[in-house]
Amino acid sequence: MGFFSKDIKTMNDLFMHGLEDLYYAENQIAKSLPDMIEKATNPQLRAGFEKHLKETEGQIARLEQVFKLLDAEPKGEKCPAIDGILKEGKELMGEIGDEDVMNVGIIAAAQAVEHYEITRYGALIAWASELGRGACVPLFKASLAEEKATDQKLTVLAERRVNPQGEKTSEAGKKAAKGAASMARRSSKRQAQPAAKAKRNGAKKARRRA
Ligand code: FE
Ligand code: FE
Ligand code: FE
Repeated sequence: MGFFSKDIKTMNDLFMHGLEDLYYAENQIAKSLPDMIEKATNPQLRAGFEKHLKETEGQIARLEQVFKLLDAEPKGEKCPAIDGILKEGKELMGEIGDEDVMNVGIIAAAQAVEHYEITRYGALIAWASELGRGACVPLFKASLAEEKATDQKLTVLAERRVNPQGEKTSEAGKKAAKGAASMARRSSKRQAQPAAKAKRNGAKKARRRA
C-alpha cells in the first residue's frame, strides 16, 4: 500500500472511520440477533436478547444522531472484526447439538460481541472529547452503558448454568461436579475454618434459592 492510498491522516479522519465502523457493526449485530433469539432456549437468555435487539435499534438511531450532529450522512464502513465475531458465533451455533450447551455457547459468543462494542464506544468517547465534539459524547455513553449492562447480565446467566438441571442432564457434568466438590472439601480443610464454613453456608443458601 502506497503512502498516498492512506486516507486516514488526522484524528478527525480516525474518528469518522471509527464511527462508520461502529455504524456498520451495530447494523450487522441487529441482523444477527434474531438468529440468536431463535437458537436460545433459556427463557431469560432469549428475553435478554429480545431486549438487546430493541436497544441495538436505538443505538443505531443514536449513531444516526451523531452523524447529524457532524453534518454527515450515516455511512457504514465494513468492519472485519464484527464480521469475524458474528461468523464464528454462527458457525459455533451450527455445530452444537445440545440445548444446554447451545445456551452456554451463545452466551460466550454474545459476550465477544459486547466486548468489541465496549472497546469501540470507549475509543469514540475519548476521540470525540479530544476533538471538541462533546455533543456526541452523551449519545455514545448511553449506548456504552447498555453494552456493559448486557455483558454483565450475560455473565450472571453464564455463572448460573452450574445448576441442578445442568448436572442432571450430563453424566460428565455430574462427575466433574463431584470431583470439584471433593477437591473443595479437601482445600477447605487446609483453609481457615470460619471462611470455609461461611462459604459452605453460602452455597447451601444458594441451593435453597435455586
Ligand atoms: Fe450495540
Ligand atoms: Fe471494526
Ligand atoms: Fe450490544
